[in-house]
Amino acid sequence: MRFNDTQEQTGAPLIDPFGRTIDYLRLSVTDRCDFRCVYCMAENMHFLPKAEILTLEELDRLSTAFIEHGVKRLRLTGGEPLVRKGIMTLVSSLSRHLETGALEELTVTTNGSQLSRFAKDLAAAGVRRLNVSIDSLKEERFRAITRWGRFQQVMDGIDAALAEGIKIKLNVVALKGVNEDEFDDMIRFCHERGMDLTFIETMPMGEIDQDRTDQYLPLSKVKQDLAQNWTLTPTPYKTGGPASYMNIKETGGRIGFITPLSHNFCESCNRVRVTCTGTLFMCLGQEDAADLRAPLRASESNDGLMQAIYHAIERKPKGHDFAIDRLTNRPSIGRHMSVTGG
Ligand code: SAM
Ligand code: SF4
Repeated sequence: MRFNDTQEQTGAPLIDPFGRTIDYLRLSVTDRCDFRCVYCMAENMHFLPKAEILTLEELDRLSTAFIEHGVKRLRLTGGEPLVRKGIMTLVSSLSRHLETGALEELTVTTNGSQLSRFAKDLAAAGVRRLNVSIDSLKEERFRAITRWGRFQQVMDGIDAALAEGIKIKLNVVALKGVNEDEFDDMIRFCHERGMDLTFIETMPMGEIDQDRTDQYLPLSKVKQDLAQNWTLTPTPYKTGGPASYMNIKETGGRIGFITPLSHNFCESCNRVRVTCTGTLFMCLGQEDAADLRAPLRASESNDGLMQAIYHAIERKPKGHDFAIDRLTNRPSIGRHMSVTGG
């Protein structure tokens, strides 16, 4: 699709070369975090200087431009989105698009540490669903994985969000030899509370302090193991994301699986990601990107911004090519997940 003035004026939808309408935006609002999960960050991270990070106003303007061109679902992520100073100002402001119906869903992916503080405001702003990442229900182990996390604080946060009527999906990264003995307990924990649960395979993104090939646990193996204890049946249920779901007869709940390495979920990919510096990534697993910060800062008009977005969407690839390079053990994607957002 070629960008022209008419498209900008009419708010023409963003359609990629494979006919996929882009209606889902993941926006990272910060690269900073109050945790240092071992698979995500090195302990001593260098964070970006403030001037490189989009201001709250710029994040709002950028989101609004996407929403005016067909984005219906917006997920805020990070780093830890809820440690961004003034984050609730942004969330409350974006909620105007929920009120008009232009935006169907505003969600947040969080480590849960700040939820006790923000659950009420998030609910008031129209946030109905949250993804909370937690990789162990054992306090000591949780501490070892997150390095800096406080388990009880996260548990309290989850309770606070549930009390506000917010639906929670727990995201668990499956880590070989680290948390695989807890998956049955996690299913019980989630389904007793009416929460969904999704397992994620580790993705080779960014330099960390450890060997990733040691951590990699294929979800095909997880499924096989779970099938020993639970009656799993596939379900066509979809949330618009890359997870495939299975129902569990014994609990009446469902579990999801996100398998970026062992399974290709690209065909139906309708999403793009923007980093906290305003870099648009058309695919989580590829390096190609477009700078939106320069056009955003160059003019108060959105013409240049939309031109950059349309041109980038024209280059959205059909699929990704993730792999841990087993010879060098280098990640196939150099940037950290905390930069692009999960
Ligand atoms: N801090 C928030 C959190 O942890 O939910 C949001 C950002 S975090 C980068 C988003 C998700 O990415 C989390 O569920 C996290 O577990 C996951 N993640 C981070 N690095 C990953 C990696 N290398 N492979 C797979 N998942 C990863
Ligand atoms: Fe922070 Fe989330 Fe990365 Fe953990 S996974 S270090 S909570 S950004």
